[in-house]
Amino acid sequence: MKMSKMFVQTLREFPSDAEVISHKMLARAGYIKKLTSGVYNYMPLMWRVLKKIENIIREEMDRAGAQELLMPFVQPKELWEESGRWEAYGKELMRLKDRHDRVMCLGPTHEEIITALARDVIKSYKQMPVNLYQIQSKFRDEVRPRYGLLRGREFIMKDAYSFDKTQEGLDKEYENMAQAYKRIFDRCGLETKMVQSDSGAIGGSVSHEFMVITDGDAGENDVFYCECDYSANSNHAVSKLPKAKVDGAEYFSKTEIIDTPNTHSIDELSEFLHIPSSIILKSLVYIVDKKPVIALIRADKNVEETKLMNAVGGIDIRIASSAEIAELMAEKGFDAVPGFIGPKGMTDIPIIADETVKDMKNFVVGINQTDKHMVGANLSDIPAIENYADIRLVEAGDFCPVCGKPLKVTKGIEVGNIFQLGTKYSKPMNAVYLDENGKAQPYIMGCYGIGVTRTAAAAVEAHYDEHGIKWPISIAPYHVVIVPVNIKDELQMKVAQEMYDKLLAAGIEVVLDDRDERAGVKFKDADLIGFPFRVTAGKTLSEGFVEYKIRETEEVLKLTPDEAVNDLINKILKK
Ligand code: ATP
Ligand code: MG
Repeated sequence: MKMSKMFVQTLREFPSDAEVISHKMLARAGYIKKLTSGVYNYMPLMWRVLKKIENIIREEMDRAGAQELLMPFVQPKELWEESGRWEAYGKELMRLKDRHDRVMCLGPTHEEIITALARDVIKSYKQMPVNLYQIQSKFRDEVRPRYGLLRGREFIMKDAYSFDKTQEGLDKEYENMAQAYKRIFDRCGLETKMVQSDSGAIGGSVSHEFMVITDGDAGENDVFYCECDYSANSNHAVSKLPKAKVDGAEYFSKTEIIDTPNTHSIDELSEFLHIPSSIILKSLVYIVDKKPVIALIRADKNVEETKLMNAVGGIDIRIASSAEIAELMAEKGFDAVPGFIGPKGMTDIPIIADETVKDMKNFVVGINQTDKHMVGANLSDIPAIENYADIRLVEAGDFCPVCGKPLKVTKGIEVGNIFQLGTKYSKPMNAVYLDENGKAQPYIMGCYGIGVTRTAAAAVEAHYDEHGIKWPISIAPYHVVIVPVNIKDELQMKVAQEMYDKLLAAGIEVVLDDRDERAGVKFKDADLIGFPFRVTAGKTLSEGFVEYKIRETEEVLKLTPDEAVNDLINKILKK
């Protein structure tokens, strides 16, 4: 490829809407061009990277025994009604009507389509196990599309679905996919952690995420992990707690209601009463699937919303607004502002108490009266709690649930996710096969996703410096750029062209920067675009050398043109 012909536009500045490194770099280096919110053109450089990631995925999925197909992107509502997700999926599902008023959606994922397809084809136990995958654009109308390719609305995903007769079969395939995922991310130059996770809108019981650990702002997930093998996304993590004072006997000799003026926050209340917050019972109002839910937790701890949502069996959760709390209070005949809410009188509303509440004694609790709290209270003084669950957010300083050592926390980007679905889709969709005894049984399913575009962006988050991207060789758009310093210099152009021809003939992906630009401009672009190797034909040619730069280490060597060509062939083709 000649740089003068390349369809690329590098920018002088980072675009103003880019917040994270990968978005800044990919936009500035001319890889992506935004069309509209969360929707991007993948420019030729980007497309080369994406195709390389896709090919690595294909090779490893095929090696693992999966078969590629391609399903439609537009999906009929009826299948989503069969699975029960038409309602459940919420606003992320982009719904539309055709000219006959038939309702459709743009595929955010393909469980419904593959289950319906399998139902038509897999009739006998003899046709399983089977694992089918596709690589395709998905559309999710994300609330907050951001961070460029990391969280788009239209993005490319590899999604695979396995069908088994037994749970053992699924366990085996799940492990097979976990191994394939490790190989895929390794080959993309990405170090990943496989962590336990919540199953979210896809559903099922067991699931793991593959996280690229990052110290940048791009990691949207907190990952807790331990020296032993334990690691989990914060929405799924559990922990042992350090010892804390949970009995307020030394502060309160009797149970009574006292004035606690202006104590709207836990800090204000514990300061006012001169007590640790671990003997305050915190009551929080959430809205789960549009209905109020009260969460109770020891006040030095915080609620993890996904855990609470799962405990209620909901699909959507948010903290209640002050107006919603006021409405709830009015409905129950109370007159309390946030800070003084409690479980008292909250009949007909689900109350979920965290496990931490069980051990509390002689504590402080809101009684739905502004500027008052009950102190020295015990569980017998509040409405009986029917539902205890672990709804607590794990925090740094907590201990590993497996081995008891301190847990560490880090940020991660989820690039892949594997799920054991079991019969979550096959049962409601009546997708069955005949077993050895001629009896109809639902398929035992698994599903396995990789964000192709997100993986490319994560690779940038993991490999860059202040000058630009440092692509791993395996997914770089081109391997090498050859830069003649001055295109009017005959010797420089001749050597550059010869190296270019030799590398091309050897199967190396090479760019010749034949633009009539200053060397500084060409070097800047080379670093920004992130070619793993740069070979410069400049003044040193008079001594017989070219300058050979390795982008990853910034190492610069003086080699003869032939040495440079041979070294590149060795390094790149052996990768
Ligand atoms: P997230 O929690 O980040 O919203 P998810 O868990 O909903 O993602 P999955 O349904 O597990 O996503 O999809 C499989 C993979 O697709 C994810 O692991 C991720 O790599 C990718 N992916 C999901 N949503 C997006 C998005 N909006 N933009 C880019 N890639 C995405
Ligand atoms: Mg996921």
